[in-house]
Amino acid sequence: MTIRPNSIEARDVARVMHPYTNAVVHEKVGPMMIEGGDGIYVIDNEGNRYIEGLGGLFCASLGFSEQRLVDAAHRQMQKLPFYHSFGGKSHDTAVELAERLVDLAPVPMSKVFFANSGSEANDTAMKMVWYYHNAIGKPNKKKIISRMRAYHGVTIASASLTGLANNHRDFDLPIDRVLHTECPLHYRYANPGESEEDFATRCADALEQLIQKEGPDTIAAFFAEPLMASGGCIVPPPTYYEKIQAVLQKYDILLVADEVICGFARTGNMFGSETFGMKPDIITMAKQLSAAYQPIAAVMVNEKVYQALREGSGKIGTFGHGFTYGGHPVATAVALETLKIYEERDMVNYVRSIMGDFQDGLHAFADHPLVGNARGVGLIGALEVVCNRETKEVFDPSWGVAAHVGERALKHGLITRALGDTVNFCPPMIITKAEIADMYARARLALDETH
Ligand code: PLP
Repeated sequence: MTIRPNSIEARDVARVMHPYTNAVVHEKVGPMMIEGGDGIYVIDNEGNRYIEGLGGLFCASLGFSEQRLVDAAHRQMQKLPFYHSFGGKSHDTAVELAERLVDLAPVPMSKVFFANSGSEANDTAMKMVWYYHNAIGKPNKKKIISRMRAYHGVTIASASLTGLANNHRDFDLPIDRVLHTECPLHYRYANPGESEEDFATRCADALEQLIQKEGPDTIAAFFAEPLMASGGCIVPPPTYYEKIQAVLQKYDILLVADEVICGFARTGNMFGSETFGMKPDIITMAKQLSAAYQPIAAVMVNEKVYQALREGSGKIGTFGHGFTYGGHPVATAVALETLKIYEERDMVNYVRSIMGDFQDGLHAFADHPLVGNARGVGLIGALEVVCNRETKEVFDPSWGVAAHVGERALKHGLITRALGDTVNFCPPMIITKAEIADMYARARLALDETH
């Protein structure tokens, strides 16, 4: 595409620095300008409509034209456009949202701390974990374990938790105190002939060995997305968390569930922790919490953690952490309305009613010559692209084959996202069965055209 001088595209290239974008390529191809939204579709500045096959970034659960959320923001803007929560200030929507989240929690939870992004929520959880161990007199318990291919954000601490080379290389990360253990992707990392059960046991053994090597008295917490989304939709074996949690309990290690993508019905339950049998001490969430109409995130802690933090503020001093916009009135009002919509439309059961079609459609790609593995749960899934289905050999990374599929999909009116060698699907949860079929038909055209 040629970029016309003085066009909005040219002005973008001149002045905007894009996240997760190759700047050299961007200068050549320019931006894709999105101007509007309608249900599961977004519309570019030439009037082309695209199915948003990834719900934006795994977040626009109610699509792009939910008037109730617009109205909720408008009402709150008129009533109280901003106030903060520092030093004990509060406002009604933050209180109601916290109450609602504790009600919905997959395990008994006690308190909610608000932030603005998934990264901030995970940073906050890390700081809470450290503060917690100081407060209970175990100051040596400071190391945190996450997994290779995990994605927990991009701030210094959360990017350290993230287990993807691209987020570490040349940023001088990860920070020490953060360790990575095995990624539970059976398709890629199981030994030949190894069952899912044996693979899960091996992952748990590897975790235990790491803990023993580092010293159990130094390990504070284990962070895990129930299903690792950005690492390429990695669904752990059925008994994985049972085995992992047995190890964590043995060594008195906190479990933090990063529900930033899995939370709010995506996997067919309100939280991914329910789908995968996790019993976390701390839960972080964002994205679908407000259907992405406002930036908001939350950290939910159980009573054990809260009591330690509470006593800590008595002993150590004020809990010196918080964001100007944490619990923003407009964001909390929109999140509350989002949760009301989920409840009224019975979103969990709606997802259950369509996820069979979604998963069947995804697995129907398993016979495609480019697809090595189709995997997913609920309304999220991915296709792993390989050049040899027998050996599982991947294409030369410089070709970026999944990205090529994505480019071709655009021509067929579908936005999806390439993550490594995977093509990912996570559409707005309001999608219908007919729209799911349409989305996959477009994806198939794109795959067929990729050579
Ligand atoms: N945690 C998970 C599981 C995520 O997928 C993401 C973003 O995709 C984050 C955290 C970071 O969230 P944010 O981009 O809002 O900082």
